[in-house]
Amino acid sequence: MKVNVEIDKDSGFCNGVVRAIRTAEENLGQKRELYTLGAIVHNNSELDRLEKKGLKVIDKEQMARLSDTTVLIRAHGEPPSTYALAKENNIRLIDCTCPVVLQLQKKIADTGGQIVIFGKIGHAEVNGLVGRAEGRAVVVENIDQIDKVDFTKPVNIFSQTTKDPVEYAQVCDRIRERMLDKSSLTVHDTICRQVAQRHSRLSAFAQSHNVIIFVSGKESSNGKVLYELCKKHNPRSYNIQSLSQIDRNWFKSGDNIGVCGATSTPKWQLTSTARFLKIRLKSYICGKFYSIIYGNYSRF
Ligand code: SF4
Repeated sequence: MKVNVEIDKDSGFCNGVVRAIRTAEENLGQKRELYTLGAIVHNNSELDRLEKKGLKVIDKEQMARLSDTTVLIRAHGEPPSTYALAKENNIRLIDCTCPVVLQLQKKIADTGGQIVIFGKIGHAEVNGLVGRAEGRAVVVENIDQIDKVDFTKPVNIFSQTTKDPVEYAQVCDRIRERMLDKSSLTVHDTICRQVAQRHSRLSAFAQSHNVIIFVSGKESSNGKVLYELCKKHNPRSYNIQSLSQIDRNWFKSGDNIGVCGATSTPKWQLTSTARFLKIRLKSYICGKFYSIIYGNYSRF
């Protein structure tokens, strides 16, 4: 089958994730093992690679049982209670909170009154932001949840850094419509620049290819948003976590295939996906003849 395969040059880790992984690897070079509070990146293949080097993912309960050790804080950041726990248990923290998230945490801590966070409930970054607001924040995941807001009081709204800018604008507009004093809504532009730029470029990338293979972990919040964006612009978009999920029937001869991913997708995984597609689709015809003659033929 003759196809063209192209990798989106803008896909791959964002600066915050690159920094956290580089720091983890530097520290793993000195120690045999290192704890990270939560998955350092929402991508199982990359996590497996780092776990082989000695990185151990722990949760807050496990951290509470540790003492006199070192724990890495990932790019998403943590609420103040994590720092207090580390101090109590004599745990040294390697703080890899992304500078963009740190700035957002500080902004929320410095803002008075009612705070609304547009983000995913339970997401690590959102938990960190809620912690900074010290009980003044409500989290809204989508337009259907805006009834949580007290429309009679002034509102300061902030977005999780990886949310869709278009959806954020829609949520803000709907809240403004419901407010008694429309001028008492303050919208803070807190979506990460890298993410916002990726939205417009990825839309163009999805439109300029016949098929999109979007590689990202199931847990990636940014992955879900970007995959939906691809799907909106190209119905032949498929989200995969591993090569075994690729189905030959997704492709036709002459297709121009685009391979892309989330801010948590490593470049090496995009490259191996593209290589796999080039090799396997090219050899498909040979494989098809083989299957007709010998049977026992898989999806490729
Ligand atoms: S998406 Fe942006 S804000 Fe979030 S970790 Fe990456 S660089 Fe930092």
